[in-house]
Amino acid sequence: LKLVSQGAEALVFVTEKHPYLPKDIKPAGLTNVNNFIVKYRPRKPYRHEQLDLQITKSRTAGEAKLLYKLDSLNIKAPKLIALDAINGIIWMEFLGFRLPNGNFSSLKNWLWFIEKKGESEAIGQLAKDVMRLVGYAIAELHLNEIVHGDLTSSNIVLVKESETEEKYSVALIDFGLSSYSNLVEDKAVDIYVLERALVSTHPQFSELYNEWLLEGYHSLYSEKKKINAWRDVERRLAAVRLRGRKRSMLG
Ligand code: AMP
Repeated sequence: LKLVSQGAEALVFVTEKHPYLPKDIKPAGLTNVNNFIVKYRPRKPYRHEQLDLQITKSRTAGEAKLLYKLDSLNIKAPKLIALDAINGIIWMEFLGFRLPNGNFSSLKNWLWFIEKKGESEAIGQLAKDVMRLVGYAIAELHLNEIVHGDLTSSNIVLVKESETEEKYSVALIDFGLSSYSNLVEDKAVDIYVLERALVSTHPQFSELYNEWLLEGYHSLYSEKKKINAWRDVERRLAAVRLRGRKRSMLG
């Protein structure tokens, strides 16, 4: 196991070992058949033991169920491989690849990587296409009454669609704080959290990125003829932004 991330809630490892398939049998239907993600929620010693078991079990199973649901809806997210809810362990598909600079292909790293390459029309177009895909992916969630709950540019991953061309798809990861909701407020806050994350990690271009993001988001609502639903989200997003601004003014 190789530790790749340590959050407040979980440890995330990469492993070459599939939970139950022997080495010479490659799993079907995964983009990466040699690496898998193990997400482990360790015990919290300060919590009451029975309560801790209950919380771990329900959060782990909740996340796994959601991954399964996303797969059945054909929404790009890590596929569920195995679940051990009582021990707080989920095995899932590894998504993403190494950028030429060696970094993992999170949206944040990828944007930093192309920003460094300098401004050109081709790079601008590529960034626009990717940000629109991001917006589209979030809209897919929202139109299925799922909110992510923790959208940042680290929880969005680029997946290679071609070995020869710069063609990518976009997947969302880390559904640990996700929930079912059809509330306009929850959807607007989901988008707002990502907007703020982009402002802090990519201050120079965030305005453009956010504009493209919303274009992509809007395009799926438009495709599905959900224009009124889009207007509701758009209006609420404006109100959430205003609230955010007032709060930061007051400190
Ligand atoms: P999480 O705790 O789920 O937010 O994951 C933290 C970090 O682990 C992410 O920012 C990624 O770098 C990595 N990670 C989590 N899940 C995956 C996955 N399915 N594929 C690749 N990397 C992942």
